[in-house]
Amino acid sequence: MATVTKRDYYEVLGVDRAASDDEIKKAFRRVARQHHPDLQTDTQKKKQAEEKFKEANEAYEVLSNPELRKRYDMFGHSAGPQGFGGGGGGPDFAGGFGDVFGDIFGDFFGGGRDRPQHGNDLQYNLSLAFEEAVDGKEAKLKIPRWEACDPCHGTGAKSPNDMKPCPGCHGTGQIRLQQGFFSINQTCRQCQGAGRIIADPCPACHGQKRVYRERTLSVTIPAGVETGMRLRLAHEGEHGVNGGPPGDLYVAIKVKPHPIFTREGRDILVELSIDMVTAALGGKVEVPTLKGKTSVKIPEGTQHGRVLRLKGMGTSSLKRHSPGDQLVRVKVTIPTKLSARQRELLTTFAKESGTLSGDSGGGFFGKAKNLFG
Ligand SMILES: [Zn+2]
Ligand SMILES: [Zn+2]
Repeated sequence: MATVTKRDYYEVLGVDRAASDDEIKKAFRRVARQHHPDLQTDTQKKKQAEEKFKEANEAYEVLSNPELRKRYDMFGHSAGPQGFGGGGGGPDFAGGFGDVFGDIFGDFFGGGRDRPQHGNDLQYNLSLAFEEAVDGKEAKLKIPRWEACDPCHGTGAKSPNDMKPCPGCHGTGQIRLQQGFFSINQTCRQCQGAGRIIADPCPACHGQKRVYRERTLSVTIPAGVETGMRLRLAHEGEHGVNGGPPGDLYVAIKVKPHPIFTREGRDILVELSIDMVTAALGGKVEVPTLKGKTSVKIPEGTQHGRVLRLKGMGTSSLKRHSPGDQLVRVKVTIPTKLSARQRELLTTFAKESGTLSGDSGGGFFGKAKNLFG
């Protein structure tokens, strides 16, 4: 590394020399995320990203430490006990990330730090057709997540021999800083106090102890789920690090509306138009249900808005397995175009029942006339 001309640390992070700690932290996040090797699929690009990633890490290691930053400002790259960063410890680019990235990447930068970290919970938003929510289904979900790295058994090292005592602190995890008359012990930044570093990282996970991959999970969606429900799949979230427990996976349900059916708990509602003659005389009509058409008897004298109940034709719920009913709301339609013959028949009908408007004594106007004299 000494043979390569190093870029200025401020330039690496793209910040001003007067940048605040916060600005440095933000800039580092941006740069490191941009060059994260796992976000590259192409081998060549991955290699380049890894270099940039390491460079950003090194710059941050120094600029985030007030003591080291001060020295760097004064002496440049030649300063420091082992120079800065690349002190021969091998690729330790995962070190020191946990605190900065915790809220973005969920603490997956565990390198060098042996403390157990809980895996993140995940949420999958599942959109279901109306019928699928009613019947339930076996859903295949593609979940991109961090999983345990098998080749290195979660150690991050190529082999057990590649875990070496940290050269920065000689395996103690602490660094002694002399300040005038005082000497203070500080947690070693190179190994985050673990005392060990990964000399040769596992090629499968680049020393991160876990790998990002898309997993297809088969999930049973029970019959009767509704929009807003969340199913919890224990331990199907992201893998923990250093023996930390895995997170959970939540499946958030959204049911698409159906063109004719709606649901109210276990009942299914449908609106059915019938003509006024059938409403008056009664008869048999066909009603759509989720299991196909069924024949329903319309009682004589059915009023507009009446609700007919088809027992057991609804859906079950998560709490109750016995199905609800299908409710059929009747909509009586009035013809808008009448033939001369139909008009004559209806007029006759009105005369018979004394309801023809304008007819003395009968109908609304007739009654109104009587009322007002
Ligand atoms: Zn150390
Ligand atoms: Zn590995």
